[in-house]
Amino acid sequence: RTEGCYAYDANGKRYLDALAGLWCTALDSDTTVNIGIANMSRAIFCNVGYLKPFVFHQDKISSSELIGWRSEVTSSGAGKVKIGEARLEISRRERGNEPRLVEAATAQLNKLPFYHSFWNRTTKPSLDLAKDLLETFTARKMAKVFFTNSGSEANDTQVKLVWYYNNALGRPNKKKFIARAKSYHGSTLISASLSGLPALHQKFDLPAPFVLHTDCPHYWRYHLEGETEEEYSTRLANNLENLIVKEGPETIAAFIAEPVMGAGGVILPPATYFEKIQAVVKKYNILFIADEVICAFGRLGTMFGCDKYNIKPDLVSVAKALSSAYMPIAGVMVSPEISEVIYSESNKLGTFSHGFTYSGHPVSCAVAIEALKLYKCVSILPLRKSISHPCRERNIVEKVESISPRFQDGLKSFSDSPIVGEIRGTGLIHGTEFTDNKSPNDPFPSEWGMFHFYFLFLLERKLSSVCMIGIGAYFGSQCEKQGLLIRVAGDSIMMSPPLIITPPEVDELINKYGRALKATEERVKELK
Ligand code: PLP
Repeated sequence: RTEGCYAYDANGKRYLDALAGLWCTALDSDTTVNIGIANMSRAIFCNVGYLKPFVFHQDKISSSELIGWRSEVTSSGAGKVKIGEARLEISRRERGNEPRLVEAATAQLNKLPFYHSFWNRTTKPSLDLAKDLLETFTARKMAKVFFTNSGSEANDTQVKLVWYYNNALGRPNKKKFIARAKSYHGSTLISASLSGLPALHQKFDLPAPFVLHTDCPHYWRYHLEGETEEEYSTRLANNLENLIVKEGPETIAAFIAEPVMGAGGVILPPATYFEKIQAVVKKYNILFIADEVICAFGRLGTMFGCDKYNIKPDLVSVAKALSSAYMPIAGVMVSPEISEVIYSESNKLGTFSHGFTYSGHPVSCAVAIEALKLYKCVSILPLRKSISHPCRERNIVEKVESISPRFQDGLKSFSDSPIVGEIRGTGLIHGTEFTDNKSPNDPFPSEWGMFHFYFLFLLERKLSSVCMIGIGAYFGSQCEKQGLLIRVAGDSIMMSPPLIITPPEVDELINKYGRALKATEERVKELK
């Protein structure tokens, strides 16, 4: 079960879920519960603060739990100090799963649990969600949304839409895609091909031949001596241009990128990177696809990654936090220019033959509509006007912006550790890369992680659930021991806590990370 930012395993052990499921649950807590009404026949009001001790005493709740009340002063004395009767409606913050998403799903299940979206039929929730999504995305105007069940299907759909578009325009050779080394775009045949992680290709006969990969934009790891971030970005843009020219611009259909690379190790674009890359793809009439599956809906402290890096995409993939992962749903947003071409071509053919049984599933859409409402609404006011209609809405962007310095600065304070190569992140996303001698070129031996695996297997007769290769595996198992769930990939570890994480929970996360780091440092000392 989960409860707020915490997950419990089968034995009841509690973990702070610093990965938000799989970079996706954003709203799994922070609800306001009405816990009752208190009538005060005689009360003194200087300001509402005077009511607090009474309320806490009566209801035995702490001041941090109490988030709102309403008083009605029925008679009053003169001046600032008023004496009168009060009716208090008291609410308390409770950490749990978000009832509004649960209610949205339940109401939709009762009304219309399913209908498909083929042959000019669809359901109101899918239309409403498409409209909401298009209004929420403001980096540039988008015209249409195509719903899928997963981020992988969304990226497969991207390829089909782009091919369809180029065929409609009479450009049958403009079909190749350029993605980046270390990117992650999913695990179906096409999305795994787009991904730039060797493990997704080896033994699967991938990538498909129409996919090319260009540089991973990891400044710390790949910059030349003395090269600034801007110069590094220029070099990468030049490399991209050379690849396009070598392949023939008339063969390249699209470029796909995550604003911040997630599964590849939380890699932030270096300064001026997207500006320069966008100029290159525009020059050769190549479409830009933003894979916002992780970044969208507040993760970086902006509603979308495109807002943060001034990206003007032609197509956008969204998933995960779209429904706070309460129901599976993903989508592709399509620009007006592309959707017009697709629309007129499909009118000529009489059909647009792409879709899934569960595209625009009404229950998933109903949940996503509610999630978007919660993300967008104004921030919690310290004093609510009415508790009978509790304002649970959160301005999620403001919330991430205000908590992220605590998260990022807290973690950056470990940069001096002798086993840390780089600590990086923005908003509520983080990556740590472990290396020896603080150098990107000195990895720790991968057997050290393996050693830990065998140790656990032979001596404790149990398998650790973390990835078993690299020193990251040891760190991951130490986190797990402490009750902290993270993502491990080789020598990198990643975190992306739920967007509703509170300051004390951030502090807990950082303390646990610090203890796991200390234990890993000790282990490295022993093994050296
Ligand atoms: N794109 C990105 C950037 C992702 O991080 C992921 C999953 O983590 C995907 C696509 C694939 O999404 P899904 O696992 O829903 O197929």
